[in-house]
Amino acid sequence: MTSIEFQEKMLMLRAKYRMSTTSGFRTVAHNKKVGGHPESFHMLGLAEDVVMDSNFVFNLNDLYSDCTKLGLQMIYEGDHYHIEANL
Ligand SMILES: [Zn+2]
Repeated sequence: MTSIEFQEKMLMLRAKYRMSTTSGFRTVAHNKKVGGHPESFHMLGLAEDVVMDSNFVFNLNDLYSDCTKLGLQMIYEGDHYHIEANL
C-alpha cells in the first residue's frame, strides 16, 4: 500500500466517522521526539492517529470492521485511535 492509497482509505473513513487527525506523517526526528516506535508507520505515511468528536456516536465494532475491510488495522491507544496499513 502506498502513502497515497492509505490517504484515500482514510478519506473513506472520514466520510463515515467525524474524526480529526492528531498525528499523520512524521519525520524520523519528530517521531523520536514524540516517543514513537522506532519503526513506526507514521514515518512512511502509512499511519494516522485520530480522535472522534466527543458528541459523535459510533459503534467501535463498525470502526474495527471498516478498517479491516479497507486493509487497515486500528489500535485503540487510550486517548486516540492509531490506524495503519495492514501490510
Ligand atoms: Zn500512531
